[in-house]
Order: sequence, then structure tokens, then C-alpha cells
Amino acid sequence: MNIQDADQGRNYLLIMQVGAVGSLFLLVFGINALWQGNHEVGTVLLAVAVLTLGSMSLMHISRNHDYGTNGLSLAVVLVHTYLIASGGIDNTGPLWCYPLIMIIMLLLGFRKGVIAVLVLFLIAVLLFFYPDIPFVSAEYPSSFKIRFIASFSALAILSFIYEYMRWQSTETYVAMSRELDKASRTDVLTGLSNRRDMQDRLEEEYGRFTRHGHCFSIIMADLDHFKRINDRYGHAVGDDLLIMMSHLFSSGVRRQDVVSRWGGEEFLILLPETRLEQAVLVAEKLRSAAELVDLSDIGVAAPVTASFGVQCNCADKTLVELIAGADSMLYEAKRLGRNKVIATI
Ligand code: GH3
Ligand code: MG
Ligand code: MG
Repeated sequence: MNIQDADQGRNYLLIMQVGAVGSLFLLVFGINALWQGNHEVGTVLLAVAVLTLGSMSLMHISRNHDYGTNGLSLAVVLVHTYLIASGGIDNTGPLWCYPLIMIIMLLLGFRKGVIAVLVLFLIAVLLFFYPDIPFVSAEYPSSFKIRFIASFSALAILSFIYEYMRWQSTETYVAMSRELDKASRTDVLTGLSNRRDMQDRLEEEYGRFTRHGHCFSIIMADLDHFKRINDRYGHAVGDDLLIMMSHLFSSGVRRQDVVSRWGGEEFLILLPETRLEQAVLVAEKLRSAAELVDLSDIGVAAPVTASFGVQCNCADKTLVELIAGADSMLYEAKRLGRNKVIATI
């Protein structure tokens, strides 16, 4: 599972939980209000409960979180406006506006949450200080209004700070996981994709082949007599040579091709949308580039060559068969004297 999937799953659960708690309260208080003979409050609360449950069901069916977030946010704004305008039961309605701040911040996150809470704040100010608005029936003492606005602001600011901290730590966590993921897929010495990354990309490409029939090729390359370089010039020069060859191979292929360090001095190259004849040409180009490269910068006098085994999956082969095929072509290239490209026996 990647970070985005985990985030999506958590978000879905959060909306569902917030929606479930919200609609439970709305249903209980709505039915109670109807029971007490307060039909208007009861009907409004039950209507908002239906809106909440409806948007949660839509989100569940469509797997589109926007239905849940937007439906619940609209429910919050409606309940907030209605409870202040009507006073709810005995003018206690505005008390419920405090948990609504928390709900909207949880649902919308820092940026959108701040905007939504400011909207709720403006609605409260308008309803309190412009009572001529037609549907406003509640009357509150001035001291209550001022204290409500002050305590609402205090809670809003605290929830902004809390949500900002949460947002920042999530950003840090996401950046760290991305870096770790990248590091776990990169070869430390050469900076190329490592075997793990290549394995995943091969599987992706193979999936594309089975779905859409797009063929691809792979090239297995191995430096010739590399052990002799280590023995003669030392391990550090061997490392420098591996880095040089990595650059050489990477710069000799297209942007969409992937060069990986498959093993010690072995490279596996993936060429999407490439048939065998084209792949052989690429391997041949890399072979002659390796042979001709000037190694005097790293103190190696004689040229270093490489052998190549090429395979294409156009004929229906499994991934394992394809890699084994490239490996046996490479073995054949070694057997025939090295510094060769072999694609078929
Ligand atoms: P061949 O032509 O048959 O491929 O011979 P070779 O000498 O290249 O192959 P062999 O498998 O005998 O030796 C591979 C050598 O590569 C041995 C190993 O020490 C060296 N090697 C593997 N990884 C690294 C590395 O990261 N750095 C260095 N300097 N050497 C490495
Ligand atoms: Mg070798
Ligand atoms: Mg080898």
C-alpha cells in the first residue's frame, strides 16, 4: 500500500465516523424535539440527519470522498445557522456551535477548514447583530452574544493551531516516507534503480502487455572480466568504473527506458514499446559505447567491454522466463568470447 492509498483509507474512515456520530446526535435530538412537541426543531434536525446519512451513502457507493465531505460540511453550516437563528430549545442552540467547529476542521483540514470556520463566524455575527433577517426568531442578551463570539473565536483559534500542527507533521511524515521509499529503490553506488525497483517496473510493464498487448524488451548487460579490474586497480577504481558505466548506459537510452543495477556488475535495462530488432540496436550501441569510452580519468588504461543478452516479450513468455532468457543470452555472449550482443541462439 502506498502513502496516498493509506491517506484515502483514513480519510474515508474519518468522514464515516464523524458522519455517524453527527447523525446519531441529530436523530436523538430530532426525535426528542418532536416528542416534546417542538415540531420545527425536530423536523430540521431530522432533515439534516437525512442529508448527512444520504451523503455518506453516496460516498460509500461512489467511493468519491467529495460527496461525504461536501454533504457533511453543508449539514454543519445548516445546523449552525438554524440553531443560532432559532435558538433551538430555550435559546441553548448556540452551545452546539462549538463541536461544529471541531467537526468542520476535522473534515476539511487546515486550509479549507479555516475558511469554513470563518464563514461560520460571519454567519454567527450576522445573525446576532442583524436580527432583522426574516427567519431569525431568537433573541439573546447582548452579554451572551459578545461572550459567544469571544468564546467561539478562542476555540476557533485553538483549533486552527491544532490543525496547523497536525497538517505540518503530516507533511513531514509524507516527505520522509517519500524519501525512504526512493532510497529503498535506488542503488547507493550508482544512483540507478535497484533490483527491487526494477522488479516492480517489470511487473507494471508486464501488466500493460497482458492488458493492451504493448510489447517490451529487456537487455541484461554484464561487464567483462570486471574482477580483473578490481584485482589490478583496486576496489575503489572498480566502483568508479561501475559509476561511469551507469552514466554511459543511462545516457544511451530513451527517457522512458529504465536502467537498473541488477547485481554487482550486472545491469538490467527495460525498454517499453520496443521490439527485439530495435532492442538489439540499442544493446549494440551501448556495447560499442562501452568499448570506446575513455577510462583514463579513473586511471584505467585498457578498454573495458560488456556482454549483452536481449529478450522481447512479444511472444507470450512469463516475466521469469523473460529474465531467464536474457540471462542465458548473456551467458551465450560470454561463451562466444564476450563483448557481444546475443538475442537468439
Ligand atoms: P565475466 O566476464 O565472466 O563476467 O567475469 P567477471 O570478472 O566480470 O565476473 P565475476 O562474476 O567473476 O566477478 C564479478 C566481480 O564483480 C566480483 C566482485 O567482487 C565484483 N563486484 C561486485 N560488486 C561490486 C562493487 O560494488 N564494486 C566493485 N568494485 N566490485 C564489485
Ligand atoms: Mg562480469
Ligand atoms: Mg556478473
